[in-house]
Amino acid sequence: MTPTPRADVALMDGYHSPQLEVAVRLNTNESPEPPPAAWVDELARAARTIAWNRYPDRDATELRAAIARLHGVDPGQVFPANGSNEVLQTVLLAYAGAGRRVAVWEPTYALHGHIARLVGSTVVEGERGPDFSLDLAEVRRLLDDPDPPSVAFLCSPNNPTGVVDSPDAVREVLALARARGCLLVVDEAYGQFAPWSALELVADDQPLVVTRTFSKTWSMAAGRLGYLVGPAAVVEQLFKVVLPYHLDSFKQLAGRLALEYVDEMEARVSHLVEERGRLVAALGELPVEVWPSGANFVLFRPIERDGRAVWEALVERSVLVRDCSSWPRLEGCLRVTIGTTEEDDAFLTALTEILT
Ligand SMILES: *Cc1c(COP(=O)(O)O)cnc(C)c1O
Repeated sequence: MTPTPRADVALMDGYHSPQLEVAVRLNTNESPEPPPAAWVDELARAARTIAWNRYPDRDATELRAAIARLHGVDPGQVFPANGSNEVLQTVLLAYAGAGRRVAVWEPTYALHGHIARLVGSTVVEGERGPDFSLDLAEVRRLLDDPDPPSVAFLCSPNNPTGVVDSPDAVREVLALARARGCLLVVDEAYGQFAPWSALELVADDQPLVVTRTFSKTWSMAAGRLGYLVGPAAVVEQLFKVVLPYHLDSFKQLAGRLALEYVDEMEARVSHLVEERGRLVAALGELPVEVWPSGANFVLFRPIERDGRAVWEALVERSVLVRDCSSWPRLEGCLRVTIGTTEEDDAFLTALTEILT
């Protein structure tokens, strides 16, 4: 007999992020710059100091202390894992799981709902407003349900729209979540690109966790490291649920050493923010609709041209962007990651050729 997967898994679509061999890759919101060469050297040297025959420090003591210093919180309020996606999975295993509900407001990051379904939760969806900002009536509709969700997701800056939720809106969602015993997760994968952070709202008596990643601003997508900052009591539950020794010694070192290069990271971020301004201004000169972005990518929709056809024409010119044109609420939209000046110029030249 052929072993059968869980019925819900058998019916699922996997997560797809198509990759193609092209000269200019602006489709996955990675940093266009590598991390500092000095960090790579330091890490290579440090690899020799690892007791490779021993299991890693299960508490990731030094890494958590370094992250805690960065944000001015207690190390007990930091939970690191293999990418923020594993952080999200661990939160969902501990606070959602089978028989519980998880709230998202569309359009947003597909993995929030996807991972929730993987752990057996039911996903309840609300809608964002016409400009993709949070609609508090829709927030109340999901949270005031007689069977309220046990976890609710915000993503700010939101992927794929780039919209930053306002401090007032996030405070209001947090108050509603608190009243309903719901844990609010604010995914800040692009937090350093935005004008404010929900990290300032984290406290041991608030049901709020904020997730961050080394994949984007830290130029370390290959390293798979992310973390959350939240109440110490929540972090304690997460350590019960995550696999023992989930974070290897090399990765703990990589993260800790990376944090010695904050200035370099911030310089990369401000350069990308400048570059984002240039790209948005240039898109404004073309027949496309553009959304303001607080992240390292920009969502746009060609006017009077089919989004998928424009995506294909860009690929023909060896420029890859993310095709969101068939996603709900994003008909005809494409998302371009901010790259190097040269990459952005190549994108703009190709798009101008296609649209004018
Ligand atoms: C890229 C991204 C992440 C990063 O996930 P990692 O597992 O840390 O690489 C998380 N959330 C959002 C919204 C993202 O766009």
